[in-house]
Amino acid sequence: MNVLDCDFLVIGGGLAGLSAALELAPHGRVILCAKRHLAESNSSYAQGGIAVPIAEDDTIEAHLQDTLGAGAGLTRADVARQIIAQGPDRIAAPEKWGVRFERKSRSSREADAEYDLGREGGHTVRRILHSGDITGSELIRVMSARVRRRRSVQVLEDHMAIDLITTGWLRIPGGDACIGAYFLDRKSGDILAVRAPHTVLATGGAGKVYLYTSNPDIATGDGLAMAWRAGLEIRNMEFVQFHPTCLYHPEAKSFLISEAVRGEGARLLNAAGKPFMKRYDPRAELAPRDIVARAIDHEIKSRGDTCVYLDITHKGEAFLRRRFPNIYATCRQYGFNMARQPIPVVPAAHYFCGGVATDIQGRTGMAGLHAAGEVACTGLHGANRLASNSLLEALVCGHAAARDILETPRPPRRRPRIPPWKTGGAVPSDEAVVVTHNWDEVRTVMWDYVGIVRTNRRLARALRRINTLRREIRTYYRDYLVTSDLLELRNIAAVAELVIRSAMLRRESRGLHYTLDYPEPAAGMRSDTVIHDLPGGGAI
Ligand SMILES: Cc1cc2nc3c(=O)[nH]c(=O)nc-3n(C[C@H](O)[C@H](O)[C@H](O)COP(=O)(O)OP(=O)(O)OC[C@H]3O[C@@H](n4cnc5c(N)ncnc54)[C@H](O)[C@@H]3O)c2cc1C
Repeated sequence: MNVLDCDFLVIGGGLAGLSAALELAPHGRVILCAKRHLAESNSSYAQGGIAVPIAEDDTIEAHLQDTLGAGAGLTRADVARQIIAQGPDRIAAPEKWGVRFERKSRSSREADAEYDLGREGGHTVRRILHSGDITGSELIRVMSARVRRRRSVQVLEDHMAIDLITTGWLRIPGGDACIGAYFLDRKSGDILAVRAPHTVLATGGAGKVYLYTSNPDIATGDGLAMAWRAGLEIRNMEFVQFHPTCLYHPEAKSFLISEAVRGEGARLLNAAGKPFMKRYDPRAELAPRDIVARAIDHEIKSRGDTCVYLDITHKGEAFLRRRFPNIYATCRQYGFNMARQPIPVVPAAHYFCGGVATDIQGRTGMAGLHAAGEVACTGLHGANRLASNSLLEALVCGHAAARDILETPRPPRRRPRIPPWKTGGAVPSDEAVVVTHNWDEVRTVMWDYVGIVRTNRRLARALRRINTLRREIRTYYRDYLVTSDLLELRNIAAVAELVIRSAMLRRESRGLHYTLDYPEPAAGMRSDTVIHDLPGGGAI
């Protein structure tokens, strides 16, 4: 087995991983691994933009208040204030490297023109910096090109982390510490290890745990599952944000219609063509996402419809083509002209507010391991994420994790020997169909029983099914050589269990967690849910 050495291992090439890698690059040898191509991440799909308190009529305090409002009592104000306050400084670097955020005037000297800020649900002012409707892919394009140019950074694409390697697992005396990770080279099928005194986990979210999701295929919660297996604390996993408006079309793979469209005045109509949001919330279409998603879910289920419609026809073609070029073109590709007709939409799993417990510097409970971005739970989002706060968190916390590593280096020690990957008696699988079937089953169970509206009975039923599936997957994992499909299945099933167990712990409705058994927030429950099992405990 090949073992690669470096000073800093970054697992994940989205905004958090790139942000960390770029900060670490001048200080040592970095290996940055991504499961697929660098362009394939949740970050790349972000349309709306990045929330930064930069407008004249805006303040850090106002942004904080909106974040606290969305977070339903669980956002950590100190954490949120620090992350928000760092936004203006952190966006300066990508802008200098070439990211173009929209400005109002195209004719005056560009750098002097005011930003053309967008507005999204839950924000009381316009504060969303955006590059048209492809903000995420712009950031990733510019930052990944920069990472590739750094000679100290080795980028390993198509390398999927399987598990963290820890001194506890190797039975090396002293406190438990992360010393790297095992990887599957997806192209060759070989297993290799990367050994490093510092690892940054930046593997993003887990939308693929649900049948319908806005997330791309990489979002299988690998980092969450790896951290759980390594014995780290996992927090607030019940808070899964469902984006209210994904294009409803069998081939669109839940293409997202950004909240910014509602920010520009789009209205939601039911299948009878009637607006309905005012019946659910006085803020109507600009209510926070959980309220809009639940309203749509209720409207669809109570009327027996398959979708609702988003109407922005009053804005006209020229505006829509300019403001939402990507959304406009994609809708056209699926046969909808958003300038002429309301477009069909449904909610889909979008963002995980919970994750590996960290502070704002990305410190986890384990020496040598930081986590940043969607995989982490800093406390910024609380029970519900305010729109466009996640790119901000990925950018700020990826950078902060790198700074923390550089400022508190670990004492030099002899490099521990990494045992070769054991295949035991495993053979190549000839039953890939079982893996596919189990994939579908995990995702369907989660959609049907652990979705937007939950109950005790549904959660109990889901846990029984997931436990059975996890037992099957464990046998599979032991008996067959690993493939990325099998590894991802193992991870989505692990994340499913984390979500269900966390949801069972929360005996109230708060933020994104809504249960018919306890429909109100409980005064005594203003705390995080925590799952902290022993290394390997409960996890495959
Ligand atoms: C459609 C869509 C629209 C969005 N719009 C917005 C928006 O407008 N504003 C906003 O603030 N947020 C938005 N979000 C959320 C935001 O994009 C993400 O929360 C954020 O980008 C997460 O960044 P990240 O770096 O943590 O993870 P990601 O960008 O998802 O990157 C994860 C990286 O980890 C790698 N990886 C995963 N598992 C492994 C493994 N086992 N081994 C090796 N590598 C691995 C992946 O290959 C990828 O490179 C949106 C999300 C989606 C899906």
